[in-house]
Amino acid sequence: MNVLLIGPPGSGKGTQGAVLAQRLGVLHIAAGDLLRAEVEQASPVGRRVQAMMARGELVPDLIILALVLPAVIQAVDQGGYVLDGYPRSVPQAELTRDLSDSLGLRADLVVYLDVAREELMARILARAATEGRADDTEEVVRHRLQVFEEATSPLVAYYRELGVLRVVDANGPVEQVTQAVLALVERG
Ligand code: AMP
Repeated sequence: MNVLLIGPPGSGKGTQGAVLAQRLGVLHIAAGDLLRAEVEQASPVGRRVQAMMARGELVPDLIILALVLPAVIQAVDQGGYVLDGYPRSVPQAELTRDLSDSLGLRADLVVYLDVAREELMARILARAATEGRADDTEEVVRHRLQVFEEATSPLVAYYRELGVLRVVDANGPVEQVTQAVLALVERG
């Protein structure tokens, strides 16, 4: 089972990704986590993306692809994935479409975590208090929300057109959202 999670910053992608992967017995891949690991190691990739991430901008398509692709190939080999944070734009989805078809990596389901816009800032600022992410300040979050609206939200229509999109009301408690996603996964 291969699942893509899409949602605005603060919609719970990371949290749901981890829980869902565990329940489904597949690997969780979070694009943002892969990038943050590179930044922490001060690797060549990390040094290249650090400032972009701190500003809340998307990193170049080929850089994120270079990190995500091996992880996805490995996950599929081991039974599947829950992937959050990639793709983040229609061009990214297009970039990987042929390749994922030819390698058998395609998502079975794309889940959009729908959260009221006015909830998002409060959720992220609450997270900031515990996690201390460099991009969780109010100004950067505002920019990340704008990037989501402009670059990422067109994916909803893109995947709806392909017939694989499922929308989940993600305003409620974590477990309730998990159950809603699992019900969709079972339905296929
Ligand atoms: P996240 O942890 O998913 O909120 O991602 C944190 C940051 O990593 C984003 O604000 C972007 O700077 C970068 N990032 C994550 N995924 C992607 C992607 N698919 N394409 C470009 N940049 C990304």
